[in-house]
Amino acid sequence: MIVVLKHGVEREKREQLIEWLRGQGLGIHISEGEFQTVLGLIGDTSRVDMDLIASLGIVDSVKRVTEPFKCCNRKFHPEDMVVEVGDVKIGGGNFCMIAGPCSVESEDQIVTVAKAVKASGANVLRGGAFKPRTSPYDFQGLKGTGIELLKIARKETGLPIVTEIMGVNHLPLFEDVDIIQVGARNMQNFDLLRELGKLRKPILLKRGLANTLKELLMSAEYIMAGGNEQVILCERGIRTFDDYTRNTLDLAAVPMLRELTHLPIIVDPSHATGIARLVPPMALAATACGADGLIIEVHNDPMHALCDGAQSLRPEEYDALAKKVYSVREVLNK
Ligand code: PEP
Ligand code: MN
Repeated sequence: MIVVLKHGVEREKREQLIEWLRGQGLGIHISEGEFQTVLGLIGDTSRVDMDLIASLGIVDSVKRVTEPFKCCNRKFHPEDMVVEVGDVKIGGGNFCMIAGPCSVESEDQIVTVAKAVKASGANVLRGGAFKPRTSPYDFQGLKGTGIELLKIARKETGLPIVTEIMGVNHLPLFEDVDIIQVGARNMQNFDLLRELGKLRKPILLKRGLANTLKELLMSAEYIMAGGNEQVILCERGIRTFDDYTRNTLDLAAVPMLRELTHLPIIVDPSHATGIARLVPPMALAATACGADGLIIEVHNDPMHALCDGAQSLRPEEYDALAKKVYSVREVLNK
């Protein structure tokens, strides 16, 4: 249920109402916008007397929220959420360019790629340290060492870092990571999501290979219900019957999610297509349909990459793409 307060309500009266609602065993999510304050009621609202609340002088309107997701529901929070990582802002009109290799392979590799993508305008560095590989015989990532190498690249370039966590037991290693990524395969690892909800740092939540948008939002809800509201959603392609591409990029997810939630929505055209030459057109399409950012795999030597070389752009290809992305953004902002 949401309670929209009238404009300019006295603080004391607002607090009295909030206390009264809390007294009924409800959690209250307060969203203070420029023009209106919205109280989101979380918990069992079936016994709350809607008419009584609506009759109060300070209340503008009361609505039931039928969707099972509350904290990430735009009705609870009409204004776009802006996730902040140092100086970088994501969402609410702020576009983020996350780039870097699929996996961290060596200091030279990650620092070289970090410098190159930064020069092209990227503002966050990606790199997998723990890799969720289909085969247990494939490269599994440099693990803790990989995170240390990402920190070196951060120091060299000033770019904040994002890297994937695969299990709750690795959390201590992620203390100094700027954005923690939950990969597609872990989107419904509810124990992990609950633990991430206890943190106060941004989480990049990728859509599962075969998950609906509602399931994605319910996973965001797990994190947010714990009090960590800084969630970035990522569309990275879903499994369909076609096998020319690695996945099928569901771009309609972007405007659909935009209606449903206030969270930033970014797109990963690399894992969505699996083919480097398809990354630029899909990145531009994602930008054009209103994504808040892109996460793109870039490698200085894709032919020898330990993971996902086929979908990795070379630095010069990323540079050319970034210029076009900025042109599309300019058109959108006109
Ligand atoms: C990744 O970003 O490195 C990754 C493994 O992506 P996904 O979880 O989307 O497959
Ligand atoms: Mn990859």
